[in-house]
Amino acid sequence: NERILDVKGLKTQFRIDKQKVAKAVDGIDFHINKGETLAIVGESGSGKSITALSIMQLIPSPPGKIVEGSIELDGVDLLGLSEKQMTATRGNDVAMIFQEPMTSLNPVFTIGTQVSEPLRKHKKLGKKEAKKQTIELLKLVGFPRAEDIFHEYPHQLSGGMRQRAMIAMALSCAPKLIIADEPTTALDVTIQAQILDLMLDMKKKTGSSILMITHDLGVVAETADRVAVMYAGQIVETSTVKELFVKPKHPYTVGLLNSMPKIDQDSERLESIPGMVPPAHNFPQGCRFAPRCKHAMDKCTEAVPDLIEDGLNHKVRCVLYDGSGKGVTHV
Ligand code: SF4
Ligand code: MG
Repeated sequence: NERILDVKGLKTQFRIDKQKVAKAVDGIDFHINKGETLAIVGESGSGKSITALSIMQLIPSPPGKIVEGSIELDGVDLLGLSEKQMTATRGNDVAMIFQEPMTSLNPVFTIGTQVSEPLRKHKKLGKKEAKKQTIELLKLVGFPRAEDIFHEYPHQLSGGMRQRAMIAMALSCAPKLIIADEPTTALDVTIQAQILDLMLDMKKKTGSSILMITHDLGVVAETADRVAVMYAGQIVETSTVKELFVKPKHPYTVGLLNSMPKIDQDSERLESIPGMVPPAHNFPQGCRFAPRCKHAMDKCTEAVPDLIEDGLNHKVRCVLYDGSGKGVTHV
């Protein structure tokens, strides 16, 4: 398996004031194989978006800073690149799709101008060739009247159409990796399904790898091969998507699954996880999920549990597991 992305020991922090530092991403390791979709799932405030922005090196600095770790994209350590080299990488080798395309599209430029911009900038295409390729891209993402869309402005499009345009822009230079941060969260349910289908379809056609950032396990189930569950700046569980849904291990993952709406269940019976993600400048001692965990015991708060292999390609950060694949204290 060839790795397209390899993140090791990544720590991204935000200085709040002289005393306080928010440890938004606090030492995470993960990788994405070529052609694979990895989902990072967790509640808001868990550090998912900061992970995405760290890879893109779009962390506002100050107050933010990547303080440790490495991020290799196809063998190149992005943290070793100059700003100029990173500018040449963004949009070309790695592209990002954001939650709200209205804020990431510029209202004063036409869709055509914006979608063709990476082609002109990175592939140095002339106006005419860029237009031709952009219209092809717009057709590819499902605009039958692509020539018209090319000349329209973002506000003339619906939310779903704008997200299609963003996907076209992300795909334009055939990046090695596409990072999608809650790409469907702002959209209606039916449009959500269409956009996810489009992303899957595009992935098949282009063979690109995807990092899908989401709070929604439904999105994970539909799009990803593997999943990393993130909580309070750390990864608490990783496995294949199939295994995660059948054999979730970490109590947080179990809680997320129990709070997921199911078709045959009315939503009033959903169990949400009590409490909230702790603030990143004030994590609790030991296991960061302990204040919300119904299995918490004294030893949970002594030290942060290690992320250990427990079963094939399945890792978990919880004292209930000892690596035997069975679970120890779960009696
Ligand atoms: Fe719960 Fe303890 Fe496991 Fe943390 S380590 S998830 S508190 S059982
Ligand atoms: Mg977010």
